[in-house]
Amino acid sequence: MRLTRLGIMFAICSMVAWIPSWALTVGAMAEHGVRVQVHCTKCRAYHVIDPAVLVAIKGPEYSLVNRRCRCRLTEGCRGWNNFHYLHGVMRPLWVFEEVYPRWLEE
Ligand SMILES: [Zn+2]
Repeated sequence: MRLTRLGIMFAICSMVAWIPSWALTVGAMAEHGVRVQVHCTKCRAYHVIDPAVLVAIKGPEYSLVNRRCRCRLTEGCRGWNNFHYLHGVMRPLWVFEEVYPRWLEE
């Protein structure tokens, strides 16, 4: 089999985490009724988020991909809140290769 340039690109892309197009923006997630949760890395609290509420606040193009913030789930917690979407199981809304080692250094 001859490896085409496109084939090589696909092979490289399929090695990294992949987030489906319907999870890339809050507008797409609201449209597809995707279940979204925010989790804390330290206190382990979690909360279900309605993407439609985020659309109303931030607009449909807002993305949770590779986004995190200091814990807002537990008063005084210094952990990080990051986001997951439900697709069979809860899957991370970040691409490991894109956020590390930055997230480890912060
Ligand atoms: Zn926390």
